[in-house]
Amino acid sequence: MAIITNFSSRPEEIAVRRAIVITSRVHPGESNASFIVEGILNYLVSDDDVARYLRNNFVFKIIPMLNPDGVIIGNYRTSLSGLDLNRQWIAPSMKQCPENTSTKMMMRKTLESRDILFYCDIHGHSRCKNLFMYGCSNQRADRLKERIFPILFDKNTDLFYFDNCNFAI
Ligand SMILES: [Zn+2]
Repeated sequence: MAIITNFSSRPEEIAVRRAIVITSRVHPGESNASFIVEGILNYLVSDDDVARYLRNNFVFKIIPMLNPDGVIIGNYRTSLSGLDLNRQWIAPSMKQCPENTSTKMMMRKTLESRDILFYCDIHGHSRCKNLFMYGCSNQRADRLKERIFPILFDKNTDLFYFDNCNFAI
């Protein structure tokens, strides 16, 4: 996991920054997800003014490859244990899915000291084209909150398509 923020700030400044968690490549065959994460990492550590702003205001926790075993043995969708790790988030076993368990532990640990503003798990879709997001099916009163980033993303680039997003999964 890479942690990116402006570490030269005062400790009290770092302490109030919210976290942004990004994971990728839970499905080993989706190599395009690695391409996206490489771009995110290179941008966040760049000298660009917006990247500097982001480092001064957020703590990024990025796991570029959630399923390295699956990638190494050439699986398309599963880990070394033969499980689709993307179907193991609700109650993962440390023995069969240490990747999911460790990621959830990291997020719980993060929440002890700061809010997580945003979590995104990057995939490559097998049939759909373009950039879009899927959100969890959420019936809470704040369910529209999940749509804020995607709609802002859509308004700021022609590469992202809010109309292709789905929040009923
Ligand atoms: Zn996937």
